Amino acid sequence: MTALNAAVSTLPGVGPKKAEALGRLDISTLTDVLFHLPSRYEDRTRITPIAKLIHGVDGQIEGRVTDVRIAFGRRRTMLCTLQDDSATMVLRFFHFSKKQEQLLRRANWLRCYGNARIGRLGQIEMVHPEYQLISEPGVLAMTEGLTAVYPATEGIGQHLLRQLSTAALNVLNKGGTLPELLPESLGEQFDLAPMADAINYIHRPPENADLEKLIDGDHPMLQRLIFEELLAHHLSLRQRRKLREGYQAPQIPANSERFRKMIAALPFSLTQAQQRVIDEIAKDCSSALPMQRLLQGDVGSGKTVVAAAVLANAVAVGEQCVLMVPTEILSEQHYRCLLEWFEPLGVCVAWLHGRVKGTQRKKLLAALAGGDIDILVGTHAVFQDEVIYKKLGLVIIDEQHRFGVPQRLALQRKGENENSRPHQLIMTATPIPRSLAMTFYADLDLSVIDELPPGRQLITTTVISRQRRNDVVERIRHACLEGRQVYWVCTLIDESNLIVSQAATDTAAELTEQLSGIRIGLVHGRMKGDEKAQQMAAFKAGEIDLLVATTVIEVGVDVPNASLMIIENAERLGLSQLHQLRGRVGRGEQKSHCVLMYHGTLSHNARSRLAIMRETNDGFAIAHKDLELRGPGELLGVRQTGDMRLRVARLDAGEAMLDDIRSVADELLASNPVVVAQLLQRWLGRAQDFATV
Ligand code: ADP
Ligand code: MG
Repeated sequence: MTALNAAVSTLPGVGPKKAEALGRLDISTLTDVLFHLPSRYEDRTRITPIAKLIHGVDGQIEGRVTDVRIAFGRRRTMLCTLQDDSATMVLRFFHFSKKQEQLLRRANWLRCYGNARIGRLGQIEMVHPEYQLISEPGVLAMTEGLTAVYPATEGIGQHLLRQLSTAALNVLNKGGTLPELLPESLGEQFDLAPMADAINYIHRPPENADLEKLIDGDHPMLQRLIFEELLAHHLSLRQRRKLREGYQAPQIPANSERFRKMIAALPFSLTQAQQRVIDEIAKDCSSALPMQRLLQGDVGSGKTVVAAAVLANAVAVGEQCVLMVPTEILSEQHYRCLLEWFEPLGVCVAWLHGRVKGTQRKKLLAALAGGDIDILVGTHAVFQDEVIYKKLGLVIIDEQHRFGVPQRLALQRKGENENSRPHQLIMTATPIPRSLAMTFYADLDLSVIDELPPGRQLITTTVISRQRRNDVVERIRHACLEGRQVYWVCTLIDESNLIVSQAATDTAAELTEQLSGIRIGLVHGRMKGDEKAQQMAAFKAGEIDLLVATTVIEVGVDVPNASLMIIENAERLGLSQLHQLRGRVGRGEQKSHCVLMYHGTLSHNARSRLAIMRETNDGFAIAHKDLELRGPGELLGVRQTGDMRLRVARLDAGEAMLDDIRSVADELLASNPVVVAQLLQRWLGRAQDFATV
């Protein structure tokens, strides 16, 4: 046993409690610590005067504590005022202990690092910054080189993670060995750095490291890690695909009478593309091999009706079906849609959501277990333990990029017994370039809707600096007075749900002040389900003119009368996400507009990204560009989905690398099962259990 195999609890500072919390990060050994890679880097090599802080940008400051007080507003908040030669600012804490409060009250000077916010009145703030007590300014040495920031969890802060990685790197560099799992010839063929060098580099980038390259992931040192990580994911998908062959699924004949009736009742005719994918899916379902198909179609291409067509055939032969979606807002929308289409056909559609409680819930679950419900619509709720299906034959997952593989599998398992499992259709509006899909969705067959329903209007997009916010507000006023509806989307990247929700609340308050007479609504992630649903319903009914929202509205929401969208901090979002958001408008008769608002000066990369949004409405073109500019990690959205989390923060893998990965995988699967297992263990850890059950 090498020292790197030792348990993390052998390191100083890791007691049983910490060890358990580390387990949540999938860290149990020193090797796991080494493969817990930074998600980003911070530049703490200098101090910024408070007055020079930039909205939305991280900064390090030193200031004298002039006041600490607790504000009792809607929530208890600790406010700590700091001052330096240039200005004053406030540190805002929503969670804090008595101990912290006392510490700050006794503090004289602080050094802080955090994301700066500058309010409309010029007040400078940081929410939950990292801070350190100092006796006077300038006494504490600056950090040399870039500071790694790790994915953290409750009870495990950056400080501990840095300490642990330092300890693990020490062991590695004093003779610990990280096995080189890739065949030697491969390393030469692709010019990959040795593993130990790459690991050292990514945790502790040298002082002269090129931050931009490092963040973009095209640093040569990173390529080694990226190659291995992508290879490991691809291998696990290939294994999963192979597993399918051991199962059977119910045979669902195509073109049932229910299906024909449903299609005939639609107020429109299907596009050719819709017809084609319906045929592809129906063919899968009529075979006894479980379907595992990914349906891609741009925003607004009409995936819902395709799903309904498949459902119609399945219920026709008595199979139970479930449609899982990522948000409750979307689940309600789908439920209403399916109800309209299926109720006249005598099909029982039910909706499972957070507000179905008590006896109502019991009744619904009993009806499901008894087979009285044909189609169940809902969020993650649909695969919880208490939910039992009589005979689940078809699983449809909408907006797949919001779910992790474990969640997909948990749902699938609801319909699994002995050697049979349900058919699975997975839908996404994120068009994935083919090479990427072949590598990253290797467990799935692919269908594409490459045509929009006729008569769609192009959305006009403009890019505007936040300094022109007042013009934008005037534009909203005009639009609302003309009876149009507007979305205002608040986004902050790398921030907690809490802070983004707070920002949305603040924005709604500001806009209410500025736009008297305009009816303003608000939805954010921390609102209760029924509050959210009520606001959405009011917006849909036209009782609200302007809806201030976080990205909870990103997926699927369909309000055709909304024709103007403002997206704040657009420069910090990925192209695919912007495209998704923008897809909330342009759904009706009216000419639609999207305003991308940015802060400060745009980097070269950000400028070209926003330019793409202005130039095209084509999701595939946008996805290709996204792949080129930000790498597959962002595009796939896997970082949002928990267990399938990629460890290398930015995966920059050209299409050539993706092709190589597939051929290396072929080779390893054919001749080296031991290395396959080791790669899965190293990169997927516990997550791989899902692939091999
Ligand atoms: P998405 O692919 O983004 O999920 P939806 O299924 O929500 O798209 O469809 C968007 C809108 O287009 C809906 O209002 C739907 O009724 C409508 N629609 C779907 N297919 C067609 C069609 N063939 N012709 C006209 N309208 C359609
Ligand atoms: Mg949809």
